[in-house]
Amino acid sequence: MKRGILNLSRSELSEFFAGRGVPKYRADQVFIWLLRFGKTTFDGMANLDLSLRRELTDLFYIFRPRIIKINKSIDGTIKFLLELVDKNTIETVFIPETQRNTICVSSQVGCSVGCKFCNTGHHGFIRNLSTEEIVSQVLIVKDYLELWCSKDERISNIVFMGMGEPLLNYSNVLKSIELLISDEEDCVSRRKITLSTSGIANILKIIAKDLPCRLAISLHAPNNRIRSRIMPINNKFNIRDTLNACSEYEKHHEYLKITYEYLLLDNINDTSECAYELLHLLRGRNAKVNLLQFNSWDGCSFRPTSIGRVINFARILEKGGIEAPIRARRGEDIMAACGQLTSN
Ligand code: SF4
Repeated sequence: MKRGILNLSRSELSEFFAGRGVPKYRADQVFIWLLRFGKTTFDGMANLDLSLRRELTDLFYIFRPRIIKINKSIDGTIKFLLELVDKNTIETVFIPETQRNTICVSSQVGCSVGCKFCNTGHHGFIRNLSTEEIVSQVLIVKDYLELWCSKDERISNIVFMGMGEPLLNYSNVLKSIELLISDEEDCVSRRKITLSTSGIANILKIIAKDLPCRLAISLHAPNNRIRSRIMPINNKFNIRDTLNACSEYEKHHEYLKITYEYLLLDNINDTSECAYELLHLLRGRNAKVNLLQFNSWDGCSFRPTSIGRVINFARILEKGGIEAPIRARRGEDIMAACGQLTSN
């Protein structure tokens, strides 16, 4: 049975080649064809011997999900509904901005964490995504937008903020990041990849040292009382556990500021007192707070905070010395914004 070559890490393919007497550097050449040029067959890999190309064709396939629906927002955001081999579906979002193009990838089909404000969590968990299912989300968007080798337009940022909790599928997620990161021209640098977690503190603590990218924490509350109400995971790993795990990351990545995501919910976590409490909580940390506005979905009773309160919240944090940009809503009209993704 053929194996998916995008499920292999660089070192696994090198080892595979070494076992067959093929020089290890051939693995790098293959990955350049796959990840920089978007090859979907081994035929066109011109710098490989014909016999090696044939052997690769016999042993491996190159995975792409099937695009079953595309929604385009008036703000340029594009949402892709992708079908996997077992017919499960996931969503991936392309977000163009003046200075950068970002792809938001999913790490699981569904999610078991159950954050109350999140449509994905509301629909439950089905399964983890394999490495090829994660990496190929980036590749299929590049296929569709014809971004291969484009000098003018490229994918500059990748965020693990789609469906699923990346740390509950961390081995496949880390393998994907390793594949997507490269110093090679046209690949995405480790500083431009962000893994966002709801705070699975025990896993974060273990992998913090070796996490090869930026870290974002879905904090969303300044204290355990509010956080447990909107994020049940807080009953397992509370704010202190999560911040302790963050300290471990900071120890090994002193130049990479952690971003704390804070979704403002009307009359839940958006008061001045909450802002001061958050300031106190993050004081002394190399932190940035991204303020997010809630995006509604059917069946959710939360309401977005008024823009006046959002600005007030941001001012309090900024005055206290914490950078707190208000993130623009993107793709809300096509249900592609934060917390709105589902499998349909
Ligand atoms: S916000 Fe993230 S971790 Fe929470 S339920 Fe949604 S997908 Fe899962």
